[in-house]
Amino acid sequence: MTEALLDRTDTQTAERTYEVRTFGCQMNVHDSERISGLLEDAGYAKAPDGETPDLVVFNTCAVRENADNRLYGHLGQLKPLKESSGMQIAVGGCLAQKDQNTVLERAPWVDVVFGTHNIGSLPTLLERSRHNQEASIEILEALETFPSTLPTKRESVHSGWVSISVGCNNTCTFCIVPSLRGKEKDRRPGEILAEVQALVDDGAVEVTLLGQNVNTYGVEFGDRAAFAKLLRACGEIEGLERVRFTSPHPASFTDDVIDAMAETHNVMPQLHMPLQSGSDRILKAMRRSYRGKKFLGILDKVRERMPHAAVTTDIIVGFPGESEEDFEDTMCVVEASRFSSAFTFQYSPRPGTPAAEMEDQIPKEIVQKRFERLIALQNRITAEENAAMVGTTQELLVTADSGSKGEQTGRLTGRAPDNRLVHFSIPEGSPTPRPGDFVTVPITEAGSFHLLSDPAASDYQLRRSRAGDAWDRWQADSCGVGTTQVEGSKPGSVSLGMPTLRAQ
Ligand code: SF4
Repeated sequence: MTEALLDRTDTQTAERTYEVRTFGCQMNVHDSERISGLLEDAGYAKAPDGETPDLVVFNTCAVRENADNRLYGHLGQLKPLKESSGMQIAVGGCLAQKDQNTVLERAPWVDVVFGTHNIGSLPTLLERSRHNQEASIEILEALETFPSTLPTKRESVHSGWVSISVGCNNTCTFCIVPSLRGKEKDRRPGEILAEVQALVDDGAVEVTLLGQNVNTYGVEFGDRAAFAKLLRACGEIEGLERVRFTSPHPASFTDDVIDAMAETHNVMPQLHMPLQSGSDRILKAMRRSYRGKKFLGILDKVRERMPHAAVTTDIIVGFPGESEEDFEDTMCVVEASRFSSAFTFQYSPRPGTPAAEMEDQIPKEIVQKRFERLIALQNRITAEENAAMVGTTQELLVTADSGSKGEQTGRLTGRAPDNRLVHFSIPEGSPTPRPGDFVTVPITEAGSFHLLSDPAASDYQLRRSRAGDAWDRWQADSCGVGTTQVEGSKPGSVSLGMPTLRAQ
């Protein structure tokens, strides 16, 4: 977009407010940060809670079942509001990329439809639609500008996400991502590291490197060791205390990455590694080129180098043709893997994927029963793994959200190095941390999905951090003129793995 266009957009949208509603995975949550940044750059302001915004942007996901019904349901709800208030509605993301004109056919009151490759055009498209009094649609088949080069409005002061690649060269038969996001595109390492440094300069102490397939990073510029090198380079960035990444692919998970994780002081002992199935036959049908044995072998190596690493995963139950025996294989691999938690999904056909056309789709009742068995197994393992943490001492990065029971219990929330969620109380007379500070506490109790710490004063240590200082600055700014680009952490939105639904 030209500067002239940006300037024009600036003056004409000075008083307009916006809201972004995000569906889907972390990639989408990150894209929504870009959308917010772009809009604020173009003169929009985030709508105060409870007020009707002038613009609602839907950042959609096509991966989950019923994603389209849900979107059109939301759009239908907004229709009367749009008619009475003149609000603008924009739809972007994977579903927009997939459905293109269908969005306007089914919801003709939508003003702008934009794809995953041209987020940067949104302010111009909004402007054009307002000016011409008609819907604007622009979907590109290839990436226009790497998303990370667009302005960002970060969701959290202490933590940031950095895209290292987008797209995927694999062809998993259940997945719609390759056709929507295209082939893998890698950013140059210098650009990525400059963005990480900029986040750190801005107060962040934690960065998550993001890509559909992070460990094939470098394939585009011909360096197979590029991801391990990138992790090690992150270790050189002063002030960066925690580095995470999501998601790697087991087929391309090489020892150099394990070595880099183990030998780089700020890479956290945590791994999100999608299993999808423990049956070799089903993995083949999914076109995932590793096998159960290889997967378990990787976990062994990771734990040999990082004994306290927490491993999480994604699993699909009921893929077409999955027999009872295949499912038992999955249960065996899950039992052996000792995941600290798992994102489990019932297979549902996604139109446009090869698996949707496969014969032998599994009846819903069978899928449901298997799913319940898998959940019961994983819940037991999660509880056992959590129980094993009781008595350990953990340094927590304090987040701004104290969870649903926080107000009742007075506990705050933090993340352990292995990313486990810990609710902790502050001993009487001890100082209160700010979001972004670190506390060191003993784990005193294990819940099913989180840990608890009720420390004595002598067991509680607070370490104030630059991120906490940045939080203070943000608080001060938000009471006054508030020109800052960051806002309070919403840690509930930071989850690893397959899609979740969240409204921003
Ligand atoms: S599941 Fe992951 S690796 Fe497979 S095609 Fe989709 S994005 Fe690529």
